[in-house]
Amino acid sequence: MSSKFSKKHIIAKSNQCVSCGLCLPHCPTYRLLKSEADSPRGRIALINGVVSERIPLNGKFIQHMDRCLTCRACEMVCPNNVEFGYLIDGARALIADQSTPFVLNQNSAINFLLKKLLIIKPDRLERLRHILSFLKKTNFLQVLLKLPRLKKNKLLEIIVQLPLVKFPYVETAERMCISNRWGKVYPAKGVERGKVGLFLGCVARLTDVETLNTSIFVLNLLGYSVHIPSNQTCCGAIFQHSGELKQAAVLLEKNKTAFSETGVTTIITTASGCGMQLFESEITGNHYKIVDINQFLATAEGWQDIQIEPLPQEVLVHDPCSLRNVLRGAAYPYQLLSRIPKVQAIPLASNDQCCGAAGTYFIDQPEIANMLLNNKTMAVAESKVKYLVTSNIGCAMHMASDLYKKNINTEVLHPVTLLARQMGWKL
Ligand code: SF4
Ligand code: SF4
Repeated sequence: MSSKFSKKHIIAKSNQCVSCGLCLPHCPTYRLLKSEADSPRGRIALINGVVSERIPLNGKFIQHMDRCLTCRACEMVCPNNVEFGYLIDGARALIADQSTPFVLNQNSAINFLLKKLLIIKPDRLERLRHILSFLKKTNFLQVLLKLPRLKKNKLLEIIVQLPLVKFPYVETAERMCISNRWGKVYPAKGVERGKVGLFLGCVARLTDVETLNTSIFVLNLLGYSVHIPSNQTCCGAIFQHSGELKQAAVLLEKNKTAFSETGVTTIITTASGCGMQLFESEITGNHYKIVDINQFLATAEGWQDIQIEPLPQEVLVHDPCSLRNVLRGAAYPYQLLSRIPKVQAIPLASNDQCCGAAGTYFIDQPEIANMLLNNKTMAVAESKVKYLVTSNIGCAMHMASDLYKKNINTEVLHPVTLLARQMGWKL
Protein backbone atom coordinates (compact mmCIF):
# COMPACT_ATOMS: atom_id res chain seq x y z
CA MET A 1 0.00 0.00 0.00
CA SER A 2 1.10 3.61 -0.59
CA SER A 3 2.52 5.52 2.37
CA LYS A 4 -0.38 7.97 2.13
CA PHE A 5 -2.72 5.10 3.04
CA SER A 6 -0.55 3.27 5.56
CA LYS A 7 -2.33 1.00 8.03
CA LYS A 8 -1.14 3.23 10.88
CA HIS A 9 -2.78 6.32 9.34
CA ILE A 10 -6.01 4.52 8.51
CA ILE A 11 -6.34 3.15 12.06
CA ALA A 12 -5.58 6.56 13.60
CA LYS A 13 -8.11 8.35 11.42
CA SER A 14 -10.83 5.72 11.87
CA ASN A 15 -10.33 5.84 15.65
CA GLN A 16 -11.47 9.47 15.52
CA CYS A 17 -15.04 8.21 14.97
CA VAL A 18 -16.90 8.23 18.30
CA SER A 19 -19.88 6.31 16.88
CA CYS A 20 -22.29 9.15 17.64
CA GLY A 21 -24.36 8.31 14.56
CA LEU A 22 -25.04 11.94 13.62
CA CYS A 23 -23.96 11.16 10.05
CA LEU A 24 -26.43 8.30 9.55
CA PRO A 25 -29.52 10.30 8.44
CA HIS A 26 -27.35 12.09 5.85
CA CYS A 27 -26.02 8.92 4.20
CA PRO A 28 -27.94 7.98 1.02
CA THR A 29 -27.11 4.25 1.23
CA TYR A 30 -28.13 4.04 4.90
CA ARG A 31 -31.39 5.81 4.14
CA LEU A 32 -32.16 3.39 1.31
CA LEU A 33 -30.83 0.10 2.73
CA LYS A 34 -31.33 0.68 6.48
CA SER A 35 -28.25 -1.41 7.25
CA GLU A 36 -25.50 -0.37 9.67
CA ALA A 37 -22.85 -1.89 7.40
CA ASP A 38 -23.99 0.51 4.64
CA SER A 39 -23.75 3.55 6.91
CA PRO A 40 -20.65 5.73 7.44
CA ARG A 41 -20.29 4.55 11.05
CA GLY A 42 -20.60 0.91 10.02
CA ARG A 43 -18.13 1.29 7.16
CA ILE A 44 -15.59 3.01 9.42
CA ALA A 45 -15.89 0.14 11.93
CA LEU A 46 -15.43 -2.40 9.11
CA ILE A 47 -12.39 -0.57 7.72
CA ASN A 48 -10.86 -0.39 11.20
CA GLY A 49 -11.54 -4.11 11.73
CA VAL A 50 -9.99 -5.17 8.41
CA VAL A 51 -6.92 -2.95 8.70
CA SER A 52 -6.32 -4.14 12.29
CA GLU A 53 -6.77 -7.72 11.01
CA ARG A 54 -9.58 -8.46 13.45
CA ILE A 55 -11.97 -9.33 10.59
CA PRO A 56 -11.20 -10.72 7.11
CA LEU A 57 -11.16 -8.75 3.89
CA ASN A 58 -13.86 -10.80 2.17
CA GLY A 59 -16.63 -10.36 -0.41
CA LYS A 60 -19.04 -8.88 2.14
CA PHE A 61 -16.53 -6.20 3.10
CA ILE A 62 -15.94 -5.34 -0.57
CA GLN A 63 -19.68 -5.13 -1.20
CA HIS A 64 -20.25 -2.58 1.61
CA MET A 65 -17.31 -0.48 0.39
CA ASP A 66 -18.50 -0.71 -3.23
CA ARG A 67 -21.95 0.50 -2.27
CA CYS A 68 -20.53 3.74 -0.83
CA LEU A 69 -21.05 6.64 -3.26
CA THR A 70 -18.04 8.59 -1.92
CA CYS A 71 -20.49 11.50 -1.75
CA ARG A 72 -18.94 12.58 1.58
CA ALA A 73 -22.22 13.89 2.99
CA CYS A 74 -21.11 12.11 6.19
CA GLU A 75 -17.88 14.10 6.31
CA MET A 76 -19.75 17.38 5.91
CA VAL A 77 -21.81 16.81 9.09
CA CYS A 78 -19.35 14.91 11.29
CA PRO A 79 -18.70 16.88 14.51
CA ASN A 80 -15.39 15.05 15.00
CA ASN A 81 -14.03 15.88 11.54
CA VAL A 82 -13.56 12.22 10.59
CA GLU A 83 -11.95 12.18 7.14
CA PHE A 84 -14.28 9.67 5.53
CA GLY A 85 -13.04 10.40 1.99
CA TYR A 86 -9.53 9.39 3.06
CA LEU A 87 -10.79 6.23 4.78
CA ILE A 88 -12.88 4.98 1.87
CA ASP A 89 -10.06 5.67 -0.63
CA GLY A 90 -7.72 3.80 1.72
CA ALA A 91 -10.12 0.85 1.92
CA ARG A 92 -10.35 0.73 -1.87
CA ALA A 93 -6.57 0.84 -2.22
CA LEU A 94 -6.39 -2.08 0.22
CA ILE A 95 -8.97 -4.02 -1.82
CA ALA A 96 -7.09 -3.27 -5.07
CA ASP A 97 -3.88 -4.56 -3.44
CA GLN A 98 -5.55 -7.92 -2.68
CA SER A 99 -5.91 -8.54 -6.45
CA THR A 100 -9.48 -9.85 -6.25
CA PRO A 101 -10.47 -11.88 -9.34
CA PHE A 102 -11.79 -9.88 -12.31
CA VAL A 103 -15.43 -10.74 -12.97
CA LEU A 104 -16.25 -10.30 -16.65
CA ASN A 105 -19.73 -8.95 -17.33
CA GLN A 106 -21.13 -6.14 -19.47
CA ASN A 107 -20.54 -3.49 -16.79
CA SER A 108 -17.00 -4.56 -15.92
CA ALA A 109 -16.11 -4.71 -19.62
CA ILE A 110 -17.46 -1.17 -20.20
CA ASN A 111 -15.61 0.09 -17.16
CA PHE A 112 -12.38 -1.52 -18.29
CA LEU A 113 -12.63 -0.15 -21.83
CA LEU A 114 -13.56 3.32 -20.63
CA LYS A 115 -10.74 3.57 -18.11
CA LYS A 116 -7.86 1.75 -19.75
CA LEU A 117 -8.38 2.81 -23.35
CA LEU A 118 -10.10 6.19 -23.31
CA ILE A 119 -10.03 8.09 -20.01
CA ILE A 120 -6.32 7.52 -19.65
CA LYS A 121 -5.76 9.08 -23.11
CA PRO A 122 -8.29 11.91 -23.54
CA ASP A 123 -6.90 12.72 -27.01
CA ARG A 124 -8.37 9.38 -28.12
CA LEU A 125 -11.75 10.55 -26.82
CA GLU A 126 -11.35 13.73 -28.88
CA ARG A 127 -10.82 11.63 -31.98
CA LEU A 128 -14.25 10.07 -31.36
CA ARG A 129 -15.95 13.45 -31.76
CA HIS A 130 -16.54 13.12 -35.51
CA ILE A 131 -17.64 9.48 -35.28
CA LEU A 132 -20.03 10.18 -32.43
CA SER A 133 -21.38 13.23 -34.20
CA PHE A 134 -22.05 11.13 -37.31
CA LEU A 135 -23.68 8.30 -35.30
CA LYS A 136 -25.92 10.79 -33.49
CA LYS A 137 -27.08 12.34 -36.77
CA THR A 138 -27.95 8.92 -38.24
CA ASN A 139 -29.85 7.70 -35.13
CA PHE A 140 -27.70 4.55 -35.23
CA LEU A 141 -27.31 4.63 -31.43
CA GLN A 142 -31.09 4.63 -30.86
CA VAL A 143 -31.27 1.47 -33.00
CA LEU A 144 -28.52 -0.14 -30.88
CA LEU A 145 -30.45 0.66 -27.71
CA LYS A 146 -33.38 -1.38 -29.01
CA LEU A 147 -31.27 -4.57 -29.09
CA PRO A 148 -32.29 -6.82 -26.17
CA ARG A 149 -28.72 -7.20 -24.84
CA LEU A 150 -28.06 -3.46 -24.86
CA LYS A 151 -31.50 -2.24 -23.80
CA LYS A 152 -30.47 -1.58 -20.22
CA ASN A 153 -27.00 -0.31 -20.96
CA LYS A 154 -26.78 2.87 -18.94
CA LEU A 155 -23.76 4.28 -20.76
CA LEU A 156 -25.41 3.88 -24.15
CA GLU A 157 -28.59 5.46 -22.76
CA ILE A 158 -26.54 8.46 -21.68
CA ILE A 159 -24.83 8.81 -25.07
CA VAL A 160 -28.17 8.60 -26.89
CA GLN A 161 -29.67 11.48 -24.93
CA LEU A 162 -26.68 13.79 -25.48
CA PRO A 163 -27.53 16.72 -27.71
CA LEU A 164 -25.73 16.71 -31.05
CA VAL A 165 -22.03 16.45 -30.26
CA LYS A 166 -20.53 19.91 -30.07
CA PHE A 167 -17.12 21.18 -31.23
CA PRO A 168 -14.61 23.52 -29.57
CA TYR A 169 -14.39 27.00 -30.99
CA VAL A 170 -11.41 29.04 -32.06
CA GLU A 171 -11.23 32.69 -33.08
CA THR A 172 -9.74 34.02 -36.28
CA ALA A 173 -9.17 37.74 -36.91
CA GLU A 174 -12.68 38.01 -38.42
CA ARG A 175 -14.90 35.54 -36.60
CA MET A 176 -15.47 32.63 -34.22
CA CYS A 177 -15.55 29.21 -35.84
CA ILE A 178 -15.71 25.59 -34.74
CA SER A 179 -12.65 23.37 -34.69
CA ASN A 180 -11.55 19.84 -33.78
CA ARG A 181 -9.38 21.05 -30.92
CA TRP A 182 -9.17 23.96 -28.52
CA GLY A 183 -6.69 26.74 -29.19
CA LYS A 184 -3.65 27.18 -26.95
CA VAL A 185 -4.55 30.67 -25.76
CA TYR A 186 -7.79 32.66 -25.91
CA PRO A 187 -6.78 36.29 -25.30
CA ALA A 188 -8.77 38.59 -23.01
CA LYS A 189 -11.11 41.13 -24.63
CA GLY A 190 -9.92 44.64 -23.90
CA VAL A 191 -7.49 45.26 -21.06
CA GLU A 192 -6.16 42.03 -19.56
CA ARG A 193 -7.05 41.58 -15.86
CA GLY A 194 -5.17 38.30 -15.52
CA LYS A 195 -4.51 34.90 -17.06
CA VAL A 196 -5.86 31.54 -16.04
CA GLY A 197 -5.54 27.91 -17.11
CA LEU A 198 -8.61 25.89 -18.09
CA PHE A 199 -8.86 22.22 -17.14
CA LEU A 200 -10.67 20.25 -19.86
CA GLY A 201 -11.20 16.91 -18.11
CA CYS A 202 -11.46 13.63 -20.02
CA VAL A 203 -15.07 12.68 -20.83
CA ALA A 204 -16.14 16.33 -20.47
CA ARG A 205 -14.00 17.44 -23.43
CA LEU A 206 -16.28 15.29 -25.57
CA THR A 207 -19.62 15.52 -23.77
CA ASP A 208 -19.53 18.97 -22.16
CA VAL A 209 -18.00 21.12 -24.87
CA GLU A 210 -20.61 23.83 -24.44
CA THR A 211 -19.60 24.42 -20.79
CA LEU A 212 -15.93 24.67 -21.77
CA ASN A 213 -16.67 26.97 -24.70
CA THR A 214 -18.93 29.26 -22.68
CA SER A 215 -16.43 29.39 -19.80
CA ILE A 216 -13.77 30.68 -22.20
CA PHE A 217 -16.25 33.18 -23.66
CA VAL A 218 -17.24 34.63 -20.25
CA LEU A 219 -13.67 34.68 -18.90
CA ASN A 220 -12.44 36.50 -22.02
CA LEU A 221 -15.22 39.09 -21.81
CA LEU A 222 -14.32 39.76 -18.17
CA GLY A 223 -10.70 40.39 -19.18
CA TYR A 224 -9.03 37.03 -18.49
CA SER A 225 -6.81 35.28 -21.02
CA VAL A 226 -7.42 31.53 -20.99
CA HIS A 227 -4.54 29.08 -21.48
CA ILE A 228 -5.33 25.51 -22.50
CA PRO A 229 -2.29 23.22 -22.60
CA SER A 230 -2.99 20.45 -25.08
CA ASN A 231 -0.97 17.87 -23.10
CA GLN A 232 -3.22 18.04 -20.00
CA THR A 233 -5.04 14.83 -19.17
CA CYS A 234 -7.69 13.23 -16.92
CA CYS A 235 -7.73 14.43 -13.26
CA GLY A 236 -7.39 10.84 -12.04
CA ALA A 237 -10.48 10.81 -9.76
CA ILE A 238 -11.89 7.63 -11.29
CA PHE A 239 -8.60 5.83 -10.63
CA GLN A 240 -8.14 7.24 -7.13
CA HIS A 241 -11.64 6.14 -6.07
CA SER A 242 -11.13 2.62 -7.37
CA GLY A 243 -7.85 2.14 -5.51
CA GLU A 244 -5.57 2.57 -8.57
CA LEU A 245 -3.32 5.06 -6.84
CA LYS A 246 -0.28 4.67 -9.09
CA GLN A 247 -2.33 5.52 -12.17
CA ALA A 248 -3.86 8.55 -10.42
CA ALA A 249 -0.34 9.75 -9.50
CA VAL A 250 0.90 9.37 -13.11
CA LEU A 251 -1.99 11.51 -14.38
CA LEU A 252 -1.36 14.15 -11.72
CA GLU A 253 2.30 14.44 -12.81
CA LYS A 254 1.24 14.86 -16.46
CA ASN A 255 -1.12 17.67 -15.49
CA LYS A 256 1.54 19.41 -13.40
CA THR A 257 3.94 19.35 -16.35
CA ALA A 258 1.28 20.53 -18.79
CA PHE A 259 0.23 23.57 -16.74
CA SER A 260 3.78 24.48 -15.69
CA GLU A 261 4.49 25.27 -19.35
CA THR A 262 1.74 27.96 -19.44
CA GLY A 263 2.99 30.12 -16.56
CA VAL A 264 -0.49 30.38 -14.99
CA THR A 265 -0.99 30.05 -11.24
CA THR A 266 -4.79 29.65 -11.27
CA ILE A 267 -6.43 26.63 -12.87
CA ILE A 268 -10.16 26.83 -13.47
CA THR A 269 -12.23 23.65 -13.36
CA THR A 270 -15.75 23.41 -14.77
CA ALA A 271 -16.64 19.97 -13.37
CA SER A 272 -16.64 19.93 -9.57
CA GLY A 273 -15.64 16.24 -9.54
CA CYS A 274 -12.37 17.09 -11.31
CA GLY A 275 -12.01 20.23 -9.18
CA MET A 276 -12.24 18.14 -6.02
CA GLN A 277 -9.60 15.68 -7.21
CA LEU A 278 -7.13 18.39 -8.25
CA PHE A 279 -7.84 20.46 -5.12
CA GLU A 280 -7.08 17.53 -2.81
CA SER A 281 -4.06 16.32 -4.77
CA GLU A 282 -0.56 17.66 -4.43
CA ILE A 283 -0.98 19.83 -7.53
CA THR A 284 -1.90 22.65 -5.09
CA GLY A 285 1.45 22.18 -3.36
CA ASN A 286 3.00 23.04 -6.68
CA HIS A 287 1.84 26.68 -6.41
CA TYR A 288 -1.42 26.25 -8.34
CA LYS A 289 -4.72 27.55 -7.05
CA ILE A 290 -7.58 25.30 -8.19
CA VAL A 291 -10.82 27.27 -8.48
CA ASP A 292 -14.25 26.12 -9.60
CA ILE A 293 -15.60 28.32 -12.42
CA ASN A 294 -18.67 29.32 -10.35
CA GLN A 295 -16.49 30.64 -7.53
CA PHE A 296 -14.07 32.37 -9.88
CA LEU A 297 -16.80 34.19 -11.80
CA ALA A 298 -18.99 34.94 -8.77
CA THR A 299 -16.09 36.74 -7.13
CA ALA A 300 -14.40 38.17 -10.27
CA GLU A 301 -14.29 41.87 -11.08
CA GLY A 302 -15.34 43.58 -14.28
CA TRP A 303 -19.07 42.81 -14.31
CA GLN A 304 -20.03 46.49 -14.40
CA ASP A 305 -19.04 46.62 -18.08
CA ILE A 306 -21.02 43.51 -19.11
CA GLN A 307 -24.51 43.55 -20.61
CA ILE A 308 -26.70 40.65 -19.43
CA GLU A 309 -30.18 40.04 -20.86
CA PRO A 310 -32.89 39.43 -18.22
CA LEU A 311 -34.35 35.91 -17.94
CA PRO A 312 -37.69 36.01 -16.10
CA GLN A 313 -37.74 32.28 -15.24
CA GLU A 314 -37.40 29.89 -12.35
CA VAL A 315 -34.20 27.86 -12.67
CA LEU A 316 -33.64 24.73 -10.59
CA VAL A 317 -30.15 24.38 -9.10
CA HIS A 318 -28.67 20.95 -8.35
CA ASP A 319 -25.76 20.88 -5.87
CA PRO A 320 -23.18 18.23 -6.85
CA CYS A 321 -21.75 16.42 -3.78
CA SER A 322 -18.18 17.32 -4.78
CA LEU A 323 -19.06 21.04 -4.85
CA ARG A 324 -21.18 20.93 -1.71
CA ASN A 325 -19.41 18.48 0.60
CA VAL A 326 -15.77 18.80 -0.43
CA LEU A 327 -15.14 22.12 -2.17
CA ARG A 328 -17.77 23.69 0.13
CA GLY A 329 -18.81 25.95 -2.74
CA ALA A 330 -22.53 25.23 -3.12
CA ALA A 331 -23.44 28.92 -2.71
CA TYR A 332 -21.43 30.09 -5.75
CA PRO A 333 -23.75 28.88 -8.57
CA TYR A 334 -26.61 30.82 -6.92
CA GLN A 335 -24.41 33.92 -6.66
CA LEU A 336 -23.41 33.56 -10.29
CA LEU A 337 -26.99 33.13 -11.49
CA SER A 338 -28.01 36.23 -9.54
CA ARG A 339 -26.02 38.20 -12.12
CA ILE A 340 -28.83 37.45 -14.61
CA PRO A 341 -31.60 39.98 -14.06
CA LYS A 342 -34.99 38.49 -13.06
CA VAL A 343 -33.80 34.89 -12.69
CA GLN A 344 -35.14 32.97 -9.70
CA ALA A 345 -32.63 30.29 -8.69
CA ILE A 346 -34.38 27.56 -6.67
CA PRO A 347 -32.59 24.64 -4.97
CA LEU A 348 -33.59 21.21 -6.29
CA ALA A 349 -35.41 19.18 -3.62
CA SER A 350 -33.12 16.85 -1.58
CA ASN A 351 -29.97 18.62 -2.70
CA ASP A 352 -28.20 17.10 0.32
CA GLN A 353 -28.53 13.62 -1.26
CA CYS A 354 -26.33 12.30 -4.09
CA CYS A 355 -27.95 11.82 -7.54
CA GLY A 356 -26.24 8.43 -7.92
CA ALA A 357 -23.86 9.31 -10.77
CA ALA A 358 -20.74 9.29 -8.53
CA GLY A 359 -17.98 8.59 -11.07
CA THR A 360 -18.72 5.12 -12.48
CA TYR A 361 -21.15 4.22 -9.65
CA PHE A 362 -24.11 4.51 -12.04
CA ILE A 363 -22.57 1.64 -14.06
CA ASP A 364 -21.33 -0.44 -11.10
CA GLN A 365 -24.36 -0.10 -8.79
CA PRO A 366 -27.27 0.65 -11.15
CA GLU A 367 -30.07 -0.26 -8.72
CA ILE A 368 -29.07 2.16 -5.95
CA ALA A 369 -28.05 4.79 -8.54
CA ASN A 370 -31.48 4.59 -10.21
CA MET A 371 -33.37 4.94 -6.93
CA LEU A 372 -31.43 8.11 -6.12
CA LEU A 373 -31.83 9.40 -9.66
CA ASN A 374 -35.57 8.86 -9.68
CA ASN A 375 -35.97 11.13 -6.62
CA LYS A 376 -34.18 13.92 -8.50
CA THR A 377 -36.00 13.65 -11.80
CA MET A 378 -39.43 13.33 -10.17
CA ALA A 379 -38.70 16.60 -8.33
CA VAL A 380 -37.78 18.19 -11.67
CA ALA A 381 -40.98 16.87 -13.28
CA GLU A 382 -43.11 18.38 -10.52
CA SER A 383 -41.49 21.79 -10.87
CA LYS A 384 -42.09 22.00 -14.67
CA VAL A 385 -39.08 24.29 -15.11
CA LYS A 386 -37.30 24.88 -18.41
CA TYR A 387 -33.77 24.73 -16.96
CA LEU A 388 -31.95 22.56 -14.41
CA VAL A 389 -28.39 23.71 -13.76
CA THR A 390 -25.61 21.63 -12.26
CA SER A 391 -21.85 22.10 -12.05
CA ASN A 392 -20.64 18.55 -12.57
CA ILE A 393 -20.81 16.82 -15.94
CA GLY A 394 -21.29 13.33 -14.43
CA CYS A 395 -24.43 14.47 -12.57
CA ALA A 396 -25.61 16.41 -15.64
CA MET A 397 -25.41 13.38 -17.95
CA HIS A 398 -26.95 11.03 -15.40
CA MET A 399 -29.95 13.30 -14.75
CA ALA A 400 -30.39 14.33 -18.40
CA SER A 401 -30.58 10.69 -19.51
CA ASP A 402 -33.46 10.01 -17.11
CA LEU A 403 -35.31 13.21 -18.04
CA TYR A 404 -35.01 12.17 -21.70
CA LYS A 405 -36.29 8.66 -20.90
CA LYS A 406 -39.24 10.09 -18.97
CA ASN A 407 -40.04 12.62 -21.70
CA ILE A 408 -39.51 15.55 -19.35
CA ASN A 409 -38.68 18.62 -21.35
CA THR A 410 -36.14 20.30 -19.02
CA GLU A 411 -32.72 21.23 -20.33
CA VAL A 412 -29.76 20.32 -18.10
CA LEU A 413 -26.86 22.73 -18.39
CA HIS A 414 -24.02 24.37 -16.48
CA PRO A 415 -24.79 27.72 -14.75
CA VAL A 416 -22.02 29.38 -16.79
CA THR A 417 -23.72 28.32 -20.04
CA LEU A 418 -27.02 29.88 -19.00
CA LEU A 419 -25.19 33.06 -18.04
CA ALA A 420 -23.17 33.11 -21.29
CA ARG A 421 -26.34 32.79 -23.38
CA GLN A 422 -27.73 35.88 -21.64
CA MET A 423 -24.42 37.61 -22.40
CA GLY A 424 -24.81 36.96 -26.12
CA TRP A 425 -23.08 33.58 -26.55
CA LYS A 426 -24.17 32.01 -29.84
CA LEU A 427 -22.41 29.26 -31.76
S1 SF4 B 1 -18.27 9.54 11.34
FE1 SF4 B 1 -18.50 11.32 12.65
S2 SF4 B 1 -20.74 11.69 12.71
FE2 SF4 B 1 -20.44 9.61 11.92
S3 SF4 B 1 -20.57 8.29 13.72
FE3 SF4 B 1 -18.38 8.77 13.45
S4 SF4 B 1 -18.00 10.59 14.70
FE4 SF4 B 1 -20.24 10.39 14.48
S1 SF4 C 1 -19.60 8.88 1.46
FE1 SF4 C 1 -21.84 9.06 1.15
S2 SF4 C 1 -22.55 6.95 0.76
FE2 SF4 C 1 -20.47 6.79 1.60
S3 SF4 C 1 -20.81 6.51 3.79
FE3 SF4 C 1 -20.55 8.72 3.50
S4 SF4 C 1 -22.62 9.53 3.21
FE4 SF4 C 1 -22.74 7.28 2.97
